[in-house]
Amino acid sequence: MQIWDVAIVGCGPVGAFMANVLGQRGLKTIVLDRETAPYALPRAVHIDHEMVRLLASVGLGETMLAQMRAGDGHIHIGADHGMIRYLSVAGSPRPYGYANDYFFFQPELETALRQGLERFSNVELRLGASVDGLVETGDHVQLALSGGDTVRARWVIGCDGARSTVRKLLDIRLDDLDFDEPWLVVDAEVDGKISFPDLWGVPEGANLQNLSLMMCDPQRPATIVPGRGNHRRWEFMLLPGESDAEMAAPERVAALVEPWVEGASHRIIRAATYRFHGLVAEQWRKGRVFVAGDSAHQTPPFFGQGMCHGLRDAANLGWKLALVTEGKADDALLDTYQPEREAQVRHVISAAIGAGKYICELDPERAVERDARVRGETKMRSASELIAPIASAIVGPGAGERFINPALASGGLLDDVTGGGWVLLEAERHDLSADAQSVLDQLGAKRATLGPESLDAHGFLSGWFTQRHVTAALIRPDFYVGTVGSAETIDDRLTALGGAMRLAARVKEMEH
Ligand SMILES: Cc1cc2nc3c(=O)[nH]c(=O)nc-3n(C[C@H](O)[C@H](O)[C@H](O)COP(=O)(O)OP(=O)(O)OC[C@H]3O[C@@H](n4cnc5c(N)ncnc54)[C@H](O)[C@@H]3O)c2cc1C
Repeated sequence: MQIWDVAIVGCGPVGAFMANVLGQRGLKTIVLDRETAPYALPRAVHIDHEMVRLLASVGLGETMLAQMRAGDGHIHIGADHGMIRYLSVAGSPRPYGYANDYFFFQPELETALRQGLERFSNVELRLGASVDGLVETGDHVQLALSGGDTVRARWVIGCDGARSTVRKLLDIRLDDLDFDEPWLVVDAEVDGKISFPDLWGVPEGANLQNLSLMMCDPQRPATIVPGRGNHRRWEFMLLPGESDAEMAAPERVAALVEPWVEGASHRIIRAATYRFHGLVAEQWRKGRVFVAGDSAHQTPPFFGQGMCHGLRDAANLGWKLALVTEGKADDALLDTYQPEREAQVRHVISAAIGAGKYICELDPERAVERDARVRGETKMRSASELIAPIASAIVGPGAGERFINPALASGGLLDDVTGGGWVLLEAERHDLSADAQSVLDQLGAKRATLGPESLDAHGFLSGWFTQRHVTAALIRPDFYVGTVGSAETIDDRLTALGGAMRLAARVKEMEH
């Protein structure tokens, strides 16, 4: 029986993206999903610039950009219906190349990701295939499908969502981060503009139609999000004593939405209650099996980061699995997946829980205090700025950060010019030793030097290097910085990285 390099259980957005990453790397990959079509209604509506960059890295950036709305930022309204916080990104410079926030329709993303798989003869998508058992034996894992079929693969990734069968089969527990709030989620198509209640303090020039708006009103916390095209999303918190069934009843939904759609014809396409919570799996790898996406973590959606976390998981694990499967790195490299991803995920989930507690405040007096406090703050970080550098087996200050991707003077974004993948970006050309060059060769890294033609109008690139007092940065395929250095240090840092990453040839050299 055929042994696949990788079997992915679940073809939601995370499994489908993972399969595109592995397909592009040439790994023999099978994706199994128990359903025959993507879930037809959106859950996620927001992604940030990093996701567009990741989608572009698998050739799907343009497809998705054509189907998304770039947002202007976020606005929070207090108990007195006055503005308490405004995070505008309209017209701001774009160090990462794309707009800060995009609104999209999840079924369209899932369709694009599945169509993307058709490009790869090494990837098979098997629908209607439900995994209900797994056994690891020697050099592979055998998956049991309901109906009696089996599939064998060297590595298995459970991308099978919040109720993950794979996670349960591995007996992995979830760490509960103590947030559990019920919200009603309503999606509608609206012909025309949204109406807003009497709000005060909204800055002139703020386009409410293109902002995600958080009503921090203790009488009914709610969010209103501009989706792509005529899609609009509302989320209403359930108040104590309200039941799911009563809130999702059509007449109740119509009454909740009515003040926002005065005079505009609209069609409700879904109303359902969800419990927003924060959960993180205690183990993300057991032997040859990994969990990723909602199977590994779930977050309250206040920063719109749940699926984004999952795509980052796939980008992180994807290149590591490729190096190990190709025999270029030791299996130990795969142990860096959880520590690199988990710390970052926990950081954002705890921030989302903090935001949730502030938004979900139902005590009128405490809400007034909150509003006064927030109005007194001078700066708040955006969700995107909350993405902390990853901790890793990496060396040098600046390593672990997301690398920037500005538009270059020569045209196109940095990634368009470098082509992505592993890139040693140099402010000046360095003479590398044979050892350092061999690390780059094992990674398949390209070298690119910043000439005047590659400088960007805002000086992001030159600023990045000068602020960190370095002249070279090794960018990983997931766009995080692998290592940095100057003329004096880059050589040693590249060779150290090759050892720390357990690159096969480097480890052999070290043993001799
Ligand atoms: C109301 C709401 C709003 C949200 N908003 C945002 C947002 O704005 N931005 C954001 O980034 N995230 C958001 N999220 C989170 C986002 O929707 C999820 O993180 C994302 O869908 C998870 O993707 P996944 O691929 O991990 O899992 P899923 O999308 O759940 O996919 C799992 C797949 O596995 C398959 N499967 C399950 N079990 C098996 C099995 N045993 N065998 C075979 N196949 C199986 C399922 O059929 C499914 O296709 C939101 C979530 C909710 C509920």
